[in-house]
Amino acid sequence: MPTPRFATLAVHAGQAPDPQTGAVMPPIYQTSTYAQRAPGEHQGYAYARVSNPTRTALEQNLAALEGAKHGIAFSSGVAATDAVIKCLKPGDHVLASNDLYGGTYRLLRQVFGPFGIDSEFIPMDDPDFVASRFRDTTRILWIETPTNPLLNIVDIAALAAAAKAHGITVVVDNTFATPYLQRPLALGADLALHSTTKYLGGHSDVIGGAICTNDDAWTERLRFIAKSTGAVPGPMDCFLTLRGTKTLHLRMDRHCTNAGRVAGYLASHPKVARVYWPGFPDHPGHAVAARQMSGFGGMVSFVLKDESIEAAVRVMTGTRVFTLAESLGGVESLTNHPATMTHASIPREERLAAGLHDSLIRLSVGVEDAEDLLEDLERALAR
Ligand SMILES: *Cc1c(COP(=O)(O)O)cnc(C)c1O
Repeated sequence: MPTPRFATLAVHAGQAPDPQTGAVMPPIYQTSTYAQRAPGEHQGYAYARVSNPTRTALEQNLAALEGAKHGIAFSSGVAATDAVIKCLKPGDHVLASNDLYGGTYRLLRQVFGPFGIDSEFIPMDDPDFVASRFRDTTRILWIETPTNPLLNIVDIAALAAAAKAHGITVVVDNTFATPYLQRPLALGADLALHSTTKYLGGHSDVIGGAICTNDDAWTERLRFIAKSTGAVPGPMDCFLTLRGTKTLHLRMDRHCTNAGRVAGYLASHPKVARVYWPGFPDHPGHAVAARQMSGFGGMVSFVLKDESIEAAVRVMTGTRVFTLAESLGGVESLTNHPATMTHASIPREERLAAGLHDSLIRLSVGVEDAEDLLEDLERALAR
């Protein structure tokens, strides 16, 4: 049989009917341990921190979607990030995007800084500039694209080629794009990382993370860290995430079209100074996005002409369909204020230098009727 295509993998990969009962959906194996016939003689599962069949189903499903040999599930996206950094040594250098998930910045700087991990945050729109920052001690190039919250686009293939020449591991946080829109491993990255909390879970009801890779050595190291430090997802969380991935392709199509409608609407609104959405032909990363993604995603950010925090708060407290909340990627539309919410742990000067203005609003555009979303924004912007 030829390899099934994405939508078929989303529904079926890792999830053959249960051999014991015929259950079509993978059971939630709510157990901490497994019977052994004799010491060490078991059916592949010994203790649930190490592995659990519901988690195995999720890992196989995610690996199939990323076109990867291996998938490793974690209890959260930051736990997945944490596991990668724990594979480094004091003195190792991590080169990361200066416009990325605030929790990744906090983890690298505040948690691993004191342990001697040297992290540097730079713009990544110019591959030559990035390559000029490589050091002998650089072990990891940490790419997020589209970036959060400014939706800049990083050329994965160009940076992966440059990093490979220096033996640097390339990690792509693929949370915003999902494997439906972007496949980092096929573009040369070593690890594709996810907060499955977002689009993969898709319903804002579970926290999870994952790493997909074709690299056996990284898989062994990451599984060792997961087992040894314990940030593993429970079976119920794996089940919920799997329930989400089955409809990923359907949801992403709607997220993309709705986001395009919202971006176009905002761009023509008199109170809006600037809209960030890679689907605009004049977006600086548009050509790369059109090449490495099959759609522009469900995220849109914008800045008001009134640059104050108060103006942004007035809009965000005036919506009725959009909910003001952390997170993204669920079926419901959300607003977020990076300056005071997701990116508050980044010092203000660094935040402004990276273009994260006080009146910047990030939208996670859901799968509701686009007309209702536009009317909602119209009402909130009129206040
Ligand atoms: C949310 C998020 C994370 C962290 O994931 P959690 O599941 O919240 O721990 C990492 N990267 C990106 C891009 C995110 O949006």
